[in-house]
Amino acid sequence: MSKVILITGGSRGIGRSAAVLAGARGWSVGVNYASNAAAADATVAAVQAAGGKAIAIACDVADEAAIIAMFDATERAFGKIDGVVNNAGIVAPGSMLADMDIARMKRIFDINVLGAYLCAREAARRMSTSRGGRGGSLVNVSSAAARLGGPGEYVDYAGSKGAIDTLTLGLAKELGREGVRVNAIRPGLIETDIHASGGKPDRAQVLGVQTPIGRPGTADEVGESIVWLLSDASSYVTGAIVDVTGGR
Ligand code: NAP
Repeated sequence: MSKVILITGGSRGIGRSAAVLAGARGWSVGVNYASNAAAADATVAAVQAAGGKAIAIACDVADEAAIIAMFDATERAFGKIDGVVNNAGIVAPGSMLADMDIARMKRIFDINVLGAYLCAREAARRMSTSRGGRGGSLVNVSSAAARLGGPGEYVDYAGSKGAIDTLTLGLAKELGREGVRVNAIRPGLIETDIHASGGKPDRAQVLGVQTPIGRPGTADEVGESIVWLLSDASSYVTGAIVDVTGGR
């Protein structure tokens, strides 16, 4: 069945891979981005080339009104939403907690936690069968940092992802009878731009060799797991937190 999917942070990295893989299944994708319109347009073109439909939607997930408008825009373009990927997330440069200021921590929690919770709320409102939705799948993108803690680098980010795991456990139970499945993916060291934004462009390559599999992962390897959780092939999976970490 063709699906309508909204992916936050769909312009680059893991979100982009999930968008293109969704397009390859013939699905329609709302590709959200924060500021990189050129990257979002390139992802839209890649989704279309893969066989799907797509639109780019600018929205900072720290802005509640913009989130509501983003869900509205997806429904206007493609009809009722069947799946949401709560993927937008940021890190800040590596630091000890003792040296972090409140502005940095607020930004991390506004985007990674409140943004994800608000997107999950909109997903629940629009996909729940008792509210007129047709059921669906919510995939939250957490991180292995949620169980490793991010010491010396980003315990703020790690804590924000712990909140995503807990959101997944609770919301899966709330929405089980609403036709909505809620799961999380915990990526490990994946080759994307996020490491450069944290000041260490080669972080995934350097640390990836220490994983049991012996290399970093690719965005497509995470995207495949996301698309599986969106698909009907995972119809009895809810409340699951799936590590995609090469065994780390
Ligand atoms: P990335 O390559 O840095 O891409 C980030 C994406 O999020 C971009 O599409 C960006 O949009 C968007 N974004 C950033 N801030 C946003 C905001 N305020 N509102 C809306 N969109 C926003 O990141 P990634 O590595 O693919 O990470 C995706 C998710 O996986 C994140 O939640 C991250 O924490 C998680 N993760 C990644 C790794 C890894 O090793 N890469 C490991 C564990 C977990 P623009 O293009 O407009 O900037």
